[in-house]
Amino acid sequence: MPDPSSPAGLREQALNLLASGKAASRADLVETMQVAPSTVSTVVRRLIDEGTVLEEGVGQSTGGRRPRILRLRDAGGVFCVSELGARHARVGVCAPGGRLLSAAEFAIDIGAGPDAVFAEIATAFEALVAVAAPGRHLLAVGIALPGPVEFPHGRIIGPARMPGWSGYDAQAHLRERFLVPVVVDNDAKAAAVGEHVTRGDAGDMIYVKAGTGIGGSLVSGGELYRGGHGLSGDVTHVRVADSGERECSCGGRGCLETMASGAALAHLLAERGLPIADTRDVIAAALNADPTVVTMVRQAGRLLGVALSGLVNFLNPDSVVIGGALSSLDVYVAAARGMLYERCLPPMTQSLSIEASVAGPDAALIGLGHLVRATADVRP
Ligand SMILES: [Zn+2]
Repeated sequence: MPDPSSPAGLREQALNLLASGKAASRADLVETMQVAPSTVSTVVRRLIDEGTVLEEGVGQSTGGRRPRILRLRDAGGVFCVSELGARHARVGVCAPGGRLLSAAEFAIDIGAGPDAVFAEIATAFEALVAVAAPGRHLLAVGIALPGPVEFPHGRIIGPARMPGWSGYDAQAHLRERFLVPVVVDNDAKAAAVGEHVTRGDAGDMIYVKAGTGIGGSLVSGGELYRGGHGLSGDVTHVRVADSGERECSCGGRGCLETMASGAALAHLLAERGLPIADTRDVIAAALNADPTVVTMVRQAGRLLGVALSGLVNFLNPDSVVIGGALSSLDVYVAAARGMLYERCLPPMTQSLSIEASVAGPDAALIGLGHLVRATADVRP
């Protein structure tokens, strides 16, 4: 995501609006992008010249000349994208404009290692394209992984929950397998992009993916903040008080992950004798209003709020968005929100929006569609 006011940023905005159907003409673009008609004309002219956008027919007039309809060219190909979790993979097919056309989910075991997992993903891509976009060829691939990923090299660095993946060059492997441009990124970063694109106006946003693990990301000035080696956003190993000083997979103690993640909740509840094996069980029991589970989920949300409060005070964002599977639990999001109000300086929270994700389970796939389009050379 380039600077929104730069030529690349304007191009990106225009493509997003045309891809999402929020704009279909130059006049729509002028209105939604809030820039001068001459700026839109320049951007559109370039998109038409490079063959990304076609001009066809005329639309409804709101007085004056009827506007020409703008449409993204169908390149005859698609992007395939996938977000891997510890136990599930979500796969999707995106149009060349980045729009998600179709998605599916299936069980995997990430501990089986990259070769086995990517073989399954490749099969799932073929099956999904056969149904959602039959006959279309593969233009590029985007993969989001639940661990730290070096950017732009796509190498995985010491992921605690992914045995066999540490140091694995996912990007090189996937390029060899699929023979197309490949983008590999961290899941919380991809989801933050998807959320930002879906919301359109989230401003500076802290995004937290709270699922089996917890990941975070910052979008500032319309751009993903990656940090020196692409490893920004590690909120999960922030040490929180009242955490019981439990040992963490990172080797430390008292990390947020040991109390507020889906894996930690499942573990803590199983210790109390409840029949809970994973994050899905935690969510089902909380939705069933099991009092022990609801109390633990509320405490987890409060600890997430504690960890985020330092970031909010430091960064003064416009929005905090909580995504991932646990964001489907109002009690979790409300507890985090309550703690942010309690711990942050009042001027910080006055205009701060603290909400559950609107992009939902497809956030990372939507984000990957946009990251692939922005990164890979996939022009028609
Ligand atoms: Zn830790």
